[in-house]
Amino acid sequence: MTAATATTHLPTTSPVTRQTFDEVIVPTYAPSNLVPVRAKGLDVWAQDGRQYLDFTAGIAVTSLGHCHPDVVHTLQQQAEKLWHVGNGYTNEPVLELARSLVAATFADRAFFCNSGAEANEAALKLARKYAAKNGHAHKTRIISCVNSFHGRTLFTVSVGGQPKYTEGFGPLPPELTHVPFNDIEAARAAMGDDVCAIMVEPIQGEGGVMPATTEYLQALRELCDQHGALLIFDEVQCGMGRTGQLFAYMGYGVVPDILTTAKALGNGYPIGGMLTSEKVAAAFVVGTHGTTYGGNPLAASVALTVLRTINVPSFLLRVKHASKTLILALQGLVQEYPQMLKEVRGSGLLLGIQLADGFKGRAKEITKAAEDQGLMVLIAGPDVLRFAPALIVSDEQIAEAAARLRRALATVAAA
Ligand SMILES: *Cc1c(COP(=O)(O)O)cnc(C)c1O
Repeated sequence: MTAATATTHLPTTSPVTRQTFDEVIVPTYAPSNLVPVRAKGLDVWAQDGRQYLDFTAGIAVTSLGHCHPDVVHTLQQQAEKLWHVGNGYTNEPVLELARSLVAATFADRAFFCNSGAEANEAALKLARKYAAKNGHAHKTRIISCVNSFHGRTLFTVSVGGQPKYTEGFGPLPPELTHVPFNDIEAARAAMGDDVCAIMVEPIQGEGGVMPATTEYLQALRELCDQHGALLIFDEVQCGMGRTGQLFAYMGYGVVPDILTTAKALGNGYPIGGMLTSEKVAAAFVVGTHGTTYGGNPLAASVALTVLRTINVPSFLLRVKHASKTLILALQGLVQEYPQMLKEVRGSGLLLGIQLADGFKGRAKEITKAAEDQGLMVLIAGPDVLRFAPALIVSDEQIAEAAARLRRALATVAAA
């Protein structure tokens, strides 16, 4: 900050508030006026001292709740031991994490990075490299779905099927085809021998909480096999226990060639991962790809604790039970407010309510009303309310959330 502009800002000694955001942050977000300062489990306390019930989990990230004691303990212990070594060295936490993920999934190999976008970037680069290495230089095209979301790097945002996110960023990477989600015929029509990969979210998150059908994912698997292409599942949002399975593919019984994970993997400590088979992984050799922080001991030790906590049958079973309870509660609200709410959909604890036709575009307004009633919820596009509470949510918290949402709906209906 130069002396010439200093006068336009508040003195740096004054407390920061929501308004400070508008003064000093690049305006790519429009955060709520609620500024969280402290949290525990699903309870969040804001600057004004008020308690909120968190049904966002930081967008499906803090799946074990805020400040989970085991996660805090792990981070504190690791912070006293080893923070960072660079990729010229390996470290014990990352090896334990990779070994555990490999043991728990279809994969033989793991790659770590810092975000979902980076995990997808690695997956897309790997798919192109795999084709090139195997003598198929013409196989460069990537198929993905309309309304999909895969991150914000130029490659991943271009593969994502939401043109509003690529406007003004061109020229975009070429050889990308977008097909309607859950439309088997459209995927067949788009497929060809020049395709190196199909990337799909088993449950579209940002795109409106839309689960793929089993037939669709099976058809994509067959298409990839027929044309020598790789099937990439983006499980950044729907993975790590969110559906009541460790990864959503397990519930579908359709196995990808590459799977990406992030969000809940670190419960808020930044980490992303890409899982794949030995055969596909072999397309990457020393120096082909990398990132400074990837597999950093702090992130890896946290993720290992998260994985060990989530990947337990009783924990995943509880997610399924909580899902049923939340679905029933939300369906009750749909019945009470049919003029506003149309239907509940989703899987596990990644659930959405599609707004009724007369309420199109008003999801944000409803989440604001919910916040006024002490409930934090998400939207997934302008017409869908999205619920992604921590997986440790109790039946009492579900009932309380439904009560707060009911009050919010009543105020919106009365307005
Ligand atoms: C959030 C998300 C991403 C991007 O993850 P970042 O950590 O924000 O880069 C990619 N894919 C899906 C399905 C997501 O939900």
